[in-house]
Amino acid sequence: MKRIYLSPPHLGNMEFEFVQEAFRSNWISTVGPHIEAFEAEIARYAGTKGAIVVSSGTAGLHLALRVHGVGPGDTVFVSTLTFIASVNPIIYQGAEPVFIDSEPDSWNMSPAALERALADAARKNRLPKAVIAVNLYGQSAKYDEIKALCAPYGIPVIEDAAESLGAEYKGRRSGSIGDIGVYSFNGNKIITTSGGGAVVSDNLEHLQIMKHWSTQARMPEIHYQHEEIGYNYRMSNILAGIGRGQLLELDGRVAARRKVFANYRERLGAIEGISFMPELAEGFSTRWLTAMTVDPSQCPVPVSRIIAALQENEIESRPVWKPMHLQPCFAGKEIYAHSPELNVAEQLFACGICLPSGSNLTEEEQSRVMDIIEEVIHKQSVSL
Ligand SMILES: *Cc1c(COP(=O)(O)O)cnc(C)c1O
Repeated sequence: MKRIYLSPPHLGNMEFEFVQEAFRSNWISTVGPHIEAFEAEIARYAGTKGAIVVSSGTAGLHLALRVHGVGPGDTVFVSTLTFIASVNPIIYQGAEPVFIDSEPDSWNMSPAALERALADAARKNRLPKAVIAVNLYGQSAKYDEIKALCAPYGIPVIEDAAESLGAEYKGRRSGSIGDIGVYSFNGNKIITTSGGGAVVSDNLEHLQIMKHWSTQARMPEIHYQHEEIGYNYRMSNILAGIGRGQLLELDGRVAARRKVFANYRERLGAIEGISFMPELAEGFSTRWLTAMTVDPSQCPVPVSRIIAALQENEIESRPVWKPMHLQPCFAGKEIYAHSPELNVAEQLFACGICLPSGSNLTEEEQSRVMDIIEEVIHKQSVSL
């Protein structure tokens, strides 16, 4: 039985061509024409004045924090329902994360929780240096609300758009709405360079400084001259070539993932207690991963049982992200819940599951996944 993965790479027609061109011209290192071309193409796609490519999304977030002056003793507000890469760069900069819960409409940062956190921080004279809002599973957060809350304090909004390349919010591309946006081209993302990332912004000065830091802060001298500390966060010309080919396929990948989602919802949505991640009316989600919840009061099958049944049948699925405020490495950090009675992220983690969502998932494979889910739920219901 062929194993079904959560979100495997999906190659198109031009990637190998671009890589061959890099080989033919001997530009196989960290400089070369694909890098500049890829940066221009990403900026054009995002609708921003510029873009830089880097070695990973995590590296991009790190540069974004530093360019906004985040340093030791500062705090940064960040979504709690996310992958740890949204938070680690805050720690790299010696700053403190304050976790903000999700809201039910988009599963992304709760404006209500953010508002309380900002009011508290203003009272304590400890406003955050930046807010990192994560766009989960291909969907943009509520930026009108988030930006309106941050603007009076002049706090920059960093969009962790690692999972949302191709999504829109009020007609604008995800990643281009905050002060700065970060994409990931990790192997499981909607398009991939095998590993890599990009930072987009309208602030060309910021992009230039970040590019400088990403190349060991090396000054343009014939000798090796360094006036500050940088990093080796570059992307190679070969990987930029893969990225150029992948970007040509992006719109088709988005359509394919949305179709996968629609198929799941059509069939599994009929089961009592199963609901799907909502889509904001003002947004357009890529449905990078199909995420659904199983309400324990209506469906007596825990998601762990569904995940195990799929696993036994060579199918990869995952719980929704484990919130960062529940991670042992962030024990004791502050968390602002959506409301005093409700922590949305904890609830989503308890009953949420991500299903195989690759743009190359066949209808037959999708049926295999749904057959097993229906079977395990039916079996459990009958035995009760
Ligand atoms: C994948 C991901 C990242 C990190 O991207 P890498 O390229 O793997 O470093 C950051 N944030 C979120 C939400 C992600 O899903």
